[in-house]
Amino acid sequence: MPISNDPRTSGELFWVNLHPFLLSHGYQLRPRYNPKWTPSWLQPEKKIKPYLCEDSLNILKWRLLDAIRLKDGSKVVLKCMHVKSDELRIALYLSSPQMQGLPGNRTVPVIDVIKLPDDADRVLLVMPYLRVFDKPRFHCQGEVVGAFRQFLQGLVFMHEHNVAHRDIGLLNLMMDESVVMLKASHFCRPWTHDGCHGILEWRNRCSSRLVDYYYIDFDLSTWYPGGQKGAVALGKFGQVKTVPELSDTIPYDPFKVDIYQLGYTLAEVVMMYPQLSFMLALCRHMMHCNPNDRPTASAALAEFEEIVSGIDPRSLGTPIYCEEDKRSIWYRYDTLFERVRCSICPGRIEFLFAAIALILSLCFILSART
Ligand SMILES: [Zn+2]
Repeated sequence: MPISNDPRTSGELFWVNLHPFLLSHGYQLRPRYNPKWTPSWLQPEKKIKPYLCEDSLNILKWRLLDAIRLKDGSKVVLKCMHVKSDELRIALYLSSPQMQGLPGNRTVPVIDVIKLPDDADRVLLVMPYLRVFDKPRFHCQGEVVGAFRQFLQGLVFMHEHNVAHRDIGLLNLMMDESVVMLKASHFCRPWTHDGCHGILEWRNRCSSRLVDYYYIDFDLSTWYPGGQKGAVALGKFGQVKTVPELSDTIPYDPFKVDIYQLGYTLAEVVMMYPQLSFMLALCRHMMHCNPNDRPTASAALAEFEEIVSGIDPRSLGTPIYCEEDKRSIWYRYDTLFERVRCSICPGRIEFLFAAIALILSLCFILSART
């Protein structure tokens, strides 16, 4: 039954209409997008304020919505796009089976492509649910090095395959949150688990296995199958607005724009933490006002590795702080395990475990003999 004064936007009603179709394809939307939805704050027995109800949260971009993939319970994101768009062509190219297994490919994998009923012009791209890469805050230098390395490798990969991203920024650099979040975050309010209550519970990136970082959103991207030489572009301004050569009338090199945008975005993180100032020279080089004086993606990666090789491995685990930390929801004290784990040089934890296993084995053998 239709709700009088339905609070859902016309963009949201697009998803409401698709609810039964998506369910038949194995994807479940949140209750708000169920055609039989009744706002939970209007249910007579509840009498609660809308802002305390998960189903009061609306989406800001109608093309994007989260869902649960029923076959494994995983959280995914659905994005509607035109079948003839460059965005779809590039996403499928970079996510094709022969590309996905290649080292350095840090582009978001495409899980599925769903053709829409009665709409031959648009499809839904299904991708894993990811979160912005810089929240929660970084704990130590080793975590930052791991993230920056993957983003630089990912840029090398895209450029080697003649794809210019053209909208690199904090909102398009993502991480797999499963390593740091024991319970998934909410799509609309990723600083909560359920969208309404409490503070997120997370653990440090360095306390577990390697975190995967990804580039998303090829909405502004361009693929130059003929190669980078002579590749030019016009217009299309992304998140980073300070790229000096961007113009609607004078052609520019989009690959050099990517270098600037990534340098700018990494600098945004570096500036947050005084202990990361040793990375600023690389960021400035990548943001040189003359595009010809910026490094290529592979030269930037080599420069990064040169800087990292000069860091004492023991200091990679040293916690880093920023001024805003103590006023931030992301601040919390390390657990004892995190302090111990991070005080051990990355790469040597396996050695430590092997040593402990050896000592325990010897103790066992000796006790068995006596
Ligand atoms: Zn750490």
